[in-house]
Amino acid sequence: MNIAKDCVVLVHYVLKDNAGEEIDRSEPDSPLAYLHGHGQIIGGLESALLGKAVGEHLDVRLSAEEGYGERDDRLDVAYPLSVFPENIHSQLEPGMTFSSPDPRGGEEPVYMTVSAIEDEKVLASGNHPLAGVELHFSVDVAEVRAATEEEMSHGHAHGPGGAHHE
Ligand code: ZN
Repeated sequence: MNIAKDCVVLVHYVLKDNAGEEIDRSEPDSPLAYLHGHGQIIGGLESALLGKAVGEHLDVRLSAEEGYGERDDRLDVAYPLSVFPENIHSQLEPGMTFSSPDPRGGEEPVYMTVSAIEDEKVLASGNHPLAGVELHFSVDVAEVRAATEEEMSHGHAHGPGGAHHE
């Protein structure tokens, strides 16, 4: 069976950056499971998997633009500590997220992640951690099967590597 829309696909993958540094990988006993053709994985990777079968190996290179987009400096913001309520100052730490009015002037709030607190400033970014990074995926197709009716109605894969719920 070849990968097509509405297949459940299980893949093992290793993701590296341009310098060959490993960013992420699937666990050996738990491949990533997704429902093909529903935008659940990065578009460039999904396109490359179309038509592939179990046992096939792919090396897929995606530019930052095709991946998580370019970095936008306007989303890197130094907030005065004073804009945060006094009672949460002690909780501010790198990795904490909060929503903020869009620093680019957009109407929707954006999610910011704190990177550092220094000199009465809270440094935070709304850029995805992988924005600006060229992505190198090494992928092995482990399983391809038709989605069940239940999976189709939920819009995602069930079972190992997929969603587990009642
Ligand atoms: Zn479900």
